[in-house]
Amino acid sequence: RKENNMPHIQQLSSHVADLIAAGEVVERPASVVKELVENAMDAGATAVRVEIRRGGMGLIRVSDDGCGIAPVELPTAFLRHATSKLRSAEDLGSIGTLGFRGEALAAIAAVSRVEILTRPKGAQSGASLHLEGGVPGPVEEAGAPEGTTVTVRDLFYNTPARLKFMKKDSAETAAVAGLLQHLAMSHPDISFQLIKDGAEALHTPGDGKLESAIYAALGREFARSLLAVEGRGGEVAVEGYVTMPLQSRGSRSMQVFFVNGRFIKSQLLTAALEEGYRNQIMKGKFPGCVLSVTLPVTAVDVNVHPAKTTVKFAREKEVFDAVYHTVLDCLSARGGAVQVPRSV
Ligand code: ADP
Ligand code: MG
Repeated sequence: RKENNMPHIQQLSSHVADLIAAGEVVERPASVVKELVENAMDAGATAVRVEIRRGGMGLIRVSDDGCGIAPVELPTAFLRHATSKLRSAEDLGSIGTLGFRGEALAAIAAVSRVEILTRPKGAQSGASLHLEGGVPGPVEEAGAPEGTTVTVRDLFYNTPARLKFMKKDSAETAAVAGLLQHLAMSHPDISFQLIKDGAEALHTPGDGKLESAIYAALGREFARSLLAVEGRGGEVAVEGYVTMPLQSRGSRSMQVFFVNGRFIKSQLLTAALEEGYRNQIMKGKFPGCVLSVTLPVTAVDVNVHPAKTTVKFAREKEVFDAVYHTVLDCLSARGGAVQVPRSV
């Protein structure tokens, strides 16, 4: 310290800066799974297999049959701000992939031990790379099926502060399972499999039908409580399922929204859905839904938060109205079910 007790200002080492940045992207095992699965989806996979042990703290392994990574580009994929999905500032205005920040692999590798095995479609051989705390070893030729497998071990081994705040393995397992359900329903054309501690916990068929994915992810009871909805307002298309008014629930946990195939949280969409049910369900009860909202990529900003779980709509009212009217029209077409006074 200087004489007057004012602290010195210094730029952090890149190592510490990387750990801080990693903390924003990798909060818990489920965040690792999310980023790896989204990479698999962006790679055009038709099947994604996720294996976790001890809630992901023991091991996380995500395998896909997507396009693979060229061996010479493997180390680049783990650099910060390295991506194949974005080139220019203008591209930020029209993002059509789940990833675009080029941060995930670097962030995950910074706080764990990673092994990646990949073979590009049609390539003769594959390659592997190991990284420890973000430091890569050599790229080695390796036999591999087409596609990519990323294995993450010892998550947060070098960030004791984060490790200390991890919840019980069972809580982390539940978070991963919930996430996989959402991702599976967001892309019914992809088959998702989750293996937790050696046992299969989820397997969606990937037959392209949302109802098959809902059935496999959330079970028969919930699937049976649903009504199909479809509508459009301006450039906004709305499609999916909502619960019958009499099947409303005690919480909003069964409200699932996708915007351009991305699972997100949105107060606007929640409000639009619930407005559609106005006067139809009791106070303190909430509708459930699996609703997919599709609009031009230029009309939605996904670059709001590192975790990419919120979006901004350019024209909020158009989105609200499209969802509201789609839900309302569906419910009134069914005779609006039974009217329940709000005060009950
Ligand atoms: P982002 O997804 O934002 O581009 P990532 O750090 O998650 O950033 O990944 C960096 C790059 O590595 C991606 O842009 C992609 O080219 C490549 N990549 C990552 N995972 C896969 C995968 N499973 N299959 C094919 N390519 C991948
Ligand atoms: Mg990514």
